Amino acid sequence: HGSVMPQSVAVFGATGSIGASALAVIRRHPERFTVVAVSAHRRWAPLLEICQTFRPRWAVVVDPDAANALRAHLAAEDLPTEVLSGADALVTVAQASDVDTVIAGVVGGAGLPSTYAAVAAGKRVLLANKEALVMTGALLTETARRSGAVLLPIDSEHNALFQCLGSLVVTTESGGWQLKDAQQMIRRLVLTASGGPFRTRDPGTFASITPEEACAHPTWSMGQKISVDSATMMNKGLEVIEAMWLFGLPLERIEVLIHPQSIVHALVEYCDGSVLAHLSEPDMRVPIAHALAWPRRITSGASWLALVVRETLTFAAPDFDRFPCLRLAFEAARTGDCAPTVLNAANEVAVAAFLERRLAFDRIPAVIAETLAEIPVTAVTSVEAALAIDQAAREKARRWVSRWSIG
Ligand code: NAD
Ligand code: MG
Repeated sequence: HGSVMPQSVAVFGATGSIGASALAVIRRHPERFTVVAVSAHRRWAPLLEICQTFRPRWAVVVDPDAANALRAHLAAEDLPTEVLSGADALVTVAQASDVDTVIAGVVGGAGLPSTYAAVAAGKRVLLANKEALVMTGALLTETARRSGAVLLPIDSEHNALFQCLGSLVVTTESGGWQLKDAQQMIRRLVLTASGGPFRTRDPGTFASITPEEACAHPTWSMGQKISVDSATMMNKGLEVIEAMWLFGLPLERIEVLIHPQSIVHALVEYCDGSVLAHLSEPDMRVPIAHALAWPRRITSGASWLALVVRETLTFAAPDFDRFPCLRLAFEAARTGDCAPTVLNAANEVAVAAFLERRLAFDRIPAVIAETLAEIPVTAVTSVEAALAIDQAAREKARRWVSRWSIG
């Protein structure tokens, strides 16, 4: 049987929740994957441990002081990893010729430049960083088409949709994929949502929600930002926009379904009435293993799905009144152009302020709505334009946060 060169993988956001799941899958398959680069924002101690285990060629630490600390410890242990620092270093590594695959696991708009660079360089890009696609959906997908980049979703719902699309996913000669006849054959794509920790909480008490309560997700263990996004359901709104761009379908064909058990991750309804669903334990190693190995399969380390133990799977319609962020995201998707970019920027500012206890939970949608109303709708023609709009929106959002500041 053919022995192939291992794929060399750069894990961006290696110290995060996605990074940990990705490294756990990679570690099971040393003959298939080598870790060529890892990155962190400033937590160098966990990155040092990762370097000890995986011995990557590069470690990127955005914060220069933390980079120095890591450099000193690597030198003391005689480890071969070269430490790069600064936000541009991620872009450099994303473009490096000895990187085959980039796991885009940085959180938020901060991940846009490196995600875009990997796409423009024609890499295989495993996309967790949904914010990049929300900010520059048209640009990123068009760039991927031109560069030959292979964009594989690891957001669980989108990975599930990709799998349920079955034979409509046609592999291209360059090793990528495209959808064939999706418009005719698909009636709708359905993204499930757990509904988060506040699905049944009295909305009259939303003002007093603490960061601890918001981050205690019932079914998934994730980073803080996406946990708060799940609590407001902005996460599902961002995912609707992500699905539009990944699969090239209009907003009207994409639906959200509440499913508190997080066992069914997505469904594709076809024109003949068939509905295909993807089920698994809620464990990010499942979609990550799928995307790493695609179009083949490898083990992920996740538990086998025990439907007998789970017994009941329930479904309900989303409540847009309880979760105004979901409505705002649908509206921004409908408006198009830079509206999703503004939505994302304002959301990041509001969520950060909430996590720092400077903004009440129920003000998060208010900050986003006010910011959307203040920024004119223009086209997003380049990454630079996206980042400028992002900055302008952040400034407006910060004003609303300080106006409504608590403590
Ligand atoms: P996390 O907070 O656990 O980790 C974030 C990572 O990004 C860390 O390694 C951190 O060092 C790095 N980082 C943070 N700010 C940075 C900056 N300014 N510059 C460079 N690096 C920076 O987040 P996460 O939960 O792993 O989520 C990562 C991304 O994956 C997000 O876009 C999220 O929406 C998406 N995602 C996560 C999950 C999940 O289960 N955690 C599921 C689906 C999608
Ligand atoms: Mg998801």
